[in-house]
Formats: sequence, structure tokens, C-alpha cells
Amino acid sequence: MQRKKKANPVLGILGGGQLGRMLALAFAKWNGELLVLDQPGCPAEGVACRLLPGDFRKEEDVLRIGRQVDVLTVEIEQVHVGALKRLETEGVRVYPQPDVLEIIADKGLQKQFYRAKGFPTAPFRFYEGAGEIRAAVAKGSLRIPFVQKARRGGYDGRGVQLVTQEADLEKLLPLPSVVEPKVDIALELAVLAARNPSGEVAVYDPVEMHFRAEANLLDYLEAPARSGPHLAKAQKMATELIEAFGLCGLLAVEFFLTPSGELLINEVAPRPHNSAHHTIEACPCSQFEQHLRAVLDLPLGDTRLLAAARMQNILGPEGYTGPLSWRQYEDLLSDPRAHLHLYGKAESRPFRKMGHVTFLLPKT
Ligand code: ADP
Repeated sequence: MQRKKKANPVLGILGGGQLGRMLALAFAKWNGELLVLDQPGCPAEGVACRLLPGDFRKEEDVLRIGRQVDVLTVEIEQVHVGALKRLETEGVRVYPQPDVLEIIADKGLQKQFYRAKGFPTAPFRFYEGAGEIRAAVAKGSLRIPFVQKARRGGYDGRGVQLVTQEADLEKLLPLPSVVEPKVDIALELAVLAARNPSGEVAVYDPVEMHFRAEANLLDYLEAPARSGPHLAKAQKMATELIEAFGLCGLLAVEFFLTPSGELLINEVAPRPHNSAHHTIEACPCSQFEQHLRAVLDLPLGDTRLLAAARMQNILGPEGYTGPLSWRQYEDLLSDPRAHLHLYGKAESRPFRKMGHVTFLLPKT
């Protein structure tokens, strides 16, 4: 069947979680035509897009969406990269590029990339699984405290195991892993960079990330981050990193700042990121619009921070499983500084990301 010639490219997204949903909301402003591959009932369903039911980890489903769009992007790294490579050869513009996705989807390959390109990151070693790690501890070649990270599939702290005492060795994950010494962290920072296929780069102001220790996931962030020489350094490093990857799209870079002022790259994500949700209200161009501009090769938007912001994740309360009601958030709705986002997840579960709220504050 001959495809009708359209004025604008049709965009596809692998994944219709909250990030896909917020991309769809941003694209609706331009009346963009959008297809999303994910399961029915996902947060993006019904939000200014057509849902293609399927699984972004399955080759045939990725090929199916790719053959209906002009530009294909992702809201998650764990997708079928082989299918994306094939689509590229068929002329589909795939951003971020599959070879970059392949590196970033594996924390081990990420770390090797930083080392090879001379970016500062914590030292690391690879292990096949829990048994090998325990043996290394017993032999004395690996010292507690350390952090085990599953090479693939982890997110929001799932896939990360902190070992500070012998008893923690029982909790090791039975997965191929990267192991790093526990870093003394004074502050966790994130910087979002964007790059389009024409080579234009834009970078947002660094933000401070504060984690919930028990769930190991982002609790809240503050923008701007406290001042110091680390701010300009982090922005420069994020710019150099997106160029080193040659990535088209967004790159969220997470850093550790040590008490001595050293800046280490922890990890990156090649897509919109939780650490930049405040950009929806606090910046002229949100991270979601920026992602669209980058993958569609449009001029990049204004990244200036117009107001100070505090973004708080709304997590499913402990001990409760079921639907969420707006009534639970009336205190936020009555706060004039608060901008509430609920992601439309059918069921709240303990610590599940259900939404976020951004408070805009006067810039000091
Ligand atoms: P995820 O991909 O699940 O976000 P991360 O690698 O970012 O996993 O780790 C989650 C959190 O665990 C980090 O934000 C940090 O607080 C802590 N962490 C990770 N690596 C280290 C380390 N080497 N030393 C100390 N804490 C760490």
C-alpha cells in the first residue's frame, strides 16, 4: 500500500508509561501524529495518540510500529535493539540511535564507555552473579562496603544492592553485575542535555536529587542546585558526554559529588527523566518538548530556569493497593505553588510512581 505523503513526519514511541504520556501531551500542542507501542491500559493510552498494543521487547512488535512511522523514539531503554537496527536500514529515523541504546541499556558497557573516553566514574569490576561476588569477598579481592548493580533491567533502585556488612551478602542479586566501591556522596546531581541530528546541543541547569533510602528511588529534587564550581563542571561534562555518544535526543546524566568536590558520573538515561519533570512548569521548553524537538531535528528550545522549583514524586502509599482519588490531593490542589500530575496508573501499589507535584518558588 502506498503511504499518503504527509506534511509532517509521523512519530512512534516505544513505551506508553508516564514518560510516553507526557511526551504525547507535549506533542499534542503541535497537533503531532503519534503512535505508541505498549499494553492496553498503559498511562499514554487515550492521550493524544494511537495505541498499538504490543511489547517493545519483542522484535515483531517493534518492527510493526517502526514500519508505520517516519521517526521512532523510546521512553525506556529495555527495548528490542536488533529490530531498531533493522528499521534503521529500512530508512526509519531511530533516535536515540540503536548502537547508543545498546551501550546505555547495559550498565557494564556504560562504565566501559566512560573509562574508554576518559570520563570520571567510580572504579568497577564485573561479576557473573551472587556466588562469584561472595567468593571474591571470601578471598579478600573485594572489600565491603560496595554496591552491586544488575547490568541490565534495573530501574528506580530495583537492581541495586548496597552491601555495608557481611549479612547483606545474603541479599545479593543472582544476576550479571557491575560492582563499585561505596562512594562517599555529598550530593547527587543531574543534568539534562539535548542534541539534534544537526548537531545543535542544549543543556539544562543542574538539579539536586534527594533519594528515599528505603526504596532507593528519587524522593524529590531541587532546582537550581546549590552553587559551587560543580555546576559548570557538570554541565560541561553532560555536553561532552552527549557529543561523545553522538546521541540524538535527550541524555539525562546523574552525578555523584564527593565531599572533596570530585564529580563522578553515576549513570545516564537516553530519554526524558524523572530528574527533569520540573522543566514542564519551570522552563520555557519542557524536557518533553525538547525530546520531540531533538528527535524531529527541529531547533532546540530555551532551557533557562525561570523559577526555583521543588519536584516531589508521588509514590503509592505503603500498605495500600487500589485506585487513587483526587480527594487524596486536595491539600496540594489548594496550594497555589503546586502543579499536580497524576499518571493514570490503574492501581496504586506501595512505592509505585503514581504522579509528581512541582512547587514553583521565588528564585533566591
Ligand atoms: P537506578 O538505575 O536504579 O537509578 P543507580 O545506579 O542510579 O540505580 O543507583 C541508585 C542509587 O543508589 C543512587 O542514586 C545512589 O543513591 C546509590 N548508589 C549507586 N551507586 C552507588 C555507589 N557506588 N556508592 C554509593 N551509593 C550508590
